[in-house]
Amino acid sequence: MRAYYMCRECRWNDSIEKIARTRCPRCGNALSIEYEIDFSKPPQFNGKIAGIWRYSSLLPDFPQKPTLGEGGTFLSNAKRLRQVFKLKKLYIKDERRNPTGAFTDRGAAVVVAAALYYGYKGIWSRVGGNIAASLSAYATTSNMKFFVDFRERPQLGKLYQVIFFGGEIIDREEPEVKTYSVTPQDPFLAEGYKTIVFELFEDLKQIDALIVPMGHGALAFSLWKGLRELKNAGLLDEMPRIIGVQSSNCQPIVEAFRRGLNKPVECDECFTIASELLVKYPLRGKDALKALKETRGYALAVTDNEIVNGLKMLAKYEGLLVETASAAAIAALKKLVEDKIIERDDCVVVLATGAGLKHPQTLLRILEIRDLRETPFIGRTGLRILELLSRENMHGYAVWKRLTQEKNISKPTVYYHLKRLEELGLIKRLSYPNRKTFVITNKGVKVLRKLRFYSY
Ligand SMILES: [Zn+2]
Repeated sequence: MRAYYMCRECRWNDSIEKIARTRCPRCGNALSIEYEIDFSKPPQFNGKIAGIWRYSSLLPDFPQKPTLGEGGTFLSNAKRLRQVFKLKKLYIKDERRNPTGAFTDRGAAVVVAAALYYGYKGIWSRVGGNIAASLSAYATTSNMKFFVDFRERPQLGKLYQVIFFGGEIIDREEPEVKTYSVTPQDPFLAEGYKTIVFELFEDLKQIDALIVPMGHGALAFSLWKGLRELKNAGLLDEMPRIIGVQSSNCQPIVEAFRRGLNKPVECDECFTIASELLVKYPLRGKDALKALKETRGYALAVTDNEIVNGLKMLAKYEGLLVETASAAAIAALKKLVEDKIIERDDCVVVLATGAGLKHPQTLLRILEIRDLRETPFIGRTGLRILELLSRENMHGYAVWKRLTQEKNISKPTVYYHLKRLEELGLIKRLSYPNRKTFVITNKGVKVLRKLRFYSY
């Protein structure tokens, strides 16, 4: 089977055999890999091979096929969540089970296969996040160097993965070896990602809706690409609708979908708890919009609160602790059912794209949001007084004396804080004759523990 580059904008195309290309040489747009399919011999999937390379007949034919056990992920039938949403068929594709904990491993395997074939000595990821973590693992285990520049705010869990896999963090300088440069619109990444739908259609005969989080839109595009290939090969009758989800604080693709535009709407001041969805200029945005349109799909945004609730629900009901981006897809499901975009009889698949433990700070923030709502606000002085009283009972005067050793503070200020802590029920006075002695309450001990924990 011959594979070739294709530009969807200007129809430029060329064989992939000669050189590595990531953009159209004529118009600069993202490229995709297309195949000449012999319709008299539909592609066969190799049942003896595990993971993504069993779909080699619909992947570029590179001689080296790196693998760390990516793909073949578990399809959960979400028994408890389907009751919550009153859906007959709800499945969750658990992409956390890939080697580095995210679906991006599938793409990294194909990218590294391509880079080895074209003779590169290293891989340079131009973005951080899951892609960098995956590429680092696949590049270094294939004896290639790996470089990444974390331009955006680093997501620590993924940064640690990069470092432990042997990758190097560089600051805008050129790597010293000839590197294959990877952006989220890389055509070979999409080849790996699309194997998700191949697996789904081996497990389920018919799917009505696929719900996917959208950052750069590469996943939505890749799934659509995989579906088209199955359909062209005569292996699929009807395509499921692709439903893309973004955060309401950063929704360039959703906004374009709403307005019926064919390219993403730039967004300026964005922030969302779902770091993988914080993409102001989605590089596969145009292709994702096509995917939504041509599958009669849909796009919607969910708030950060809804994302947090989705994350908690998946963990509590299905034992899946996912990334916030994946949680957005579950949060969207609630709305889609309520608005009857999804019918109760539909067969729905939600993609859980990555593991929650990859970003412990986000989990901590979610816990903080919950706990701090129940925790009264006390400032640094209040906290210090609680600490002192947790060690010994003290007179108000002794508390003031002790604090003056640390900072300049007036007696009335200390009494003001003591009064406030008393009103909040965090400290109390001993009964007569020791009325002037303060003692920490059980509630005070609990609050102190929480505040100490979060200050780490
Ligand atoms: Zn072009």
